[in-house]
Amino acid sequence: MSDRDSRHKASMERLKTHVDEKVARADQERGLLLVNTGNGKGKTTAAWGTVTRSLGYGYKVGVVQFIKGLWECGERNRLEDDPNLEVVVMATGFTWETQDREADTQACLAVWQDAERMLADPETYLVVLDEITYMLKFGYLDIERVKRALENRPPEQTVIITGRSAHRELIGMADTVTEMQEVRHAFNAGVKARRGIDY
Ligand code: ATP
Ligand code: MG
Repeated sequence: MSDRDSRHKASMERLKTHVDEKVARADQERGLLLVNTGNGKGKTTAAWGTVTRSLGYGYKVGVVQFIKGLWECGERNRLEDDPNLEVVVMATGFTWETQDREADTQACLAVWQDAERMLADPETYLVVLDEITYMLKFGYLDIERVKRALENRPPEQTVIITGRSAHRELIGMADTVTEMQEVRHAFNAGVKARRGIDY
């Protein structure tokens, strides 16, 4: 064996020992709280990827989209016929379209009730709260209420929160936090959001 090959072999052996130790240490089995945040693209895409993953094992999944109701979504189109998936979308438009704080708060609280129902259901394996970070930021939803629902959820249930500027208490509570970092986005070069790619 060449010098380079034996160095590689030794390095791989060290890596294997390290990974084996980590695998042995990960002995907990429970639902997780994941936060996909940051300014880069991919937060909602990754959440839908995980929804597909869970549905692929026949688990029951709930998705609540805290966004404009008419916003198209390819994943929703593709998956909505799955009897294990429930999707709830906020009814009214975004705040900068309606400029109506009271109506937006009511719309938000209405879908939050669906979220609370899902978060209390032990049969629901995964709950996605898409773009909920803005509801907290705009003051439509109370962080204490959200924390309570998350803390009291069934231990086997996983929750994914998406959106920019996640509340620091959510970040503090989460098991896995991923910050999508924007290196570049086509939109800033004048390219329109693309069907099947951006929505
Ligand atoms: P995606 O839904 O593509 O995973 P996202 O959830 O990370 O994006 P949002 O802030 O929710 O990001 O974006 C909503 C829409 O804006 C999507 O069409 C998305 O592709 C697009 N978008 C995402 N990041 C950026 C960005 N940095 N600049 C401009 N548009 C963006
Ligand atoms: Mg998103």
